[in-house]
Amino acid sequence: MVADNHQFEVHQFTCLQDNFGVLLHDRATGATAAIDAPEAAPILSALAQKGWTLTHILLTHHHNDHIGGVAQLRTQYPDVRVSAPLADKSRIPGVDHYLREGDVVAVGSIRLAVIETPGHTSGHIVYHAQNEALLFAGDTLFALGCGRAFEAPAQVLYQSVMKLADLAPETQIYCGHEYTQSNGRFALTVDPANEALKARMQEIDRLRAAGMSTLPTNLALELATNPFLRTEDPDLRRTLGMENATPADVFAQLRERKNKA
Ligand code: ZN
Ligand code: FE
Repeated sequence: MVADNHQFEVHQFTCLQDNFGVLLHDRATGATAAIDAPEAAPILSALAQKGWTLTHILLTHHHNDHIGGVAQLRTQYPDVRVSAPLADKSRIPGVDHYLREGDVVAVGSIRLAVIETPGHTSGHIVYHAQNEALLFAGDTLFALGCGRAFEAPAQVLYQSVMKLADLAPETQIYCGHEYTQSNGRFALTVDPANEALKARMQEIDRLRAAGMSTLPTNLALELATNPFLRTEDPDLRRTLGMENATPADVFAQLRERKNKA
């Protein structure tokens, strides 16, 4: 699935209750980025276990379960370069590098382009490494779901999610949380005849029963099974009774139903 993974390694592990810690390591230079920093201890032990030195922290948004570990990581790695959304400058102070749409962060030889994805928060950004076919989606897109639209109308989050839907289908997607099983249960209520979704849900139940993670996912799988990416699907629209609605309104309806689920 990953185009060329002898050049890099992504290490994913659990932080807090259901957050993910993610380390992106560039083999050529040794550069290592943490994507978000939910808490320091598991990130520090993952670094020690791998024998990697933290060089970058790439923050997606200001919520504490994504930035809470930054201060402690900085004391351990004083040279670490921390990046965050420019739009969140007042909410994530003390950052080395503020980023906006189209900016590129280099983690060694890996180039990550910034995509602004307002919705979950107004400043949310995601990081896309096109050559490596990797997306670090934070709380914008989840496996079988998407983030709650806390700071923008659902229609704005819809536009953000659609930007991600246009990336290469083979893109591997790392997300902020392990929410897949509950997302999948909801997905089945709005897309009950989707065979790919049913098959995927069996695999998810098996993984979770074994205490294993369901992430990363990939865009092709999400396009086939994630209801928030399937707002033009006739069966899904029929189930919602929204055959003639705009895709953005279908998305908003899905978001509303999921909030109440
Ligand atoms: Zn969040
Ligand atoms: Fe979160």
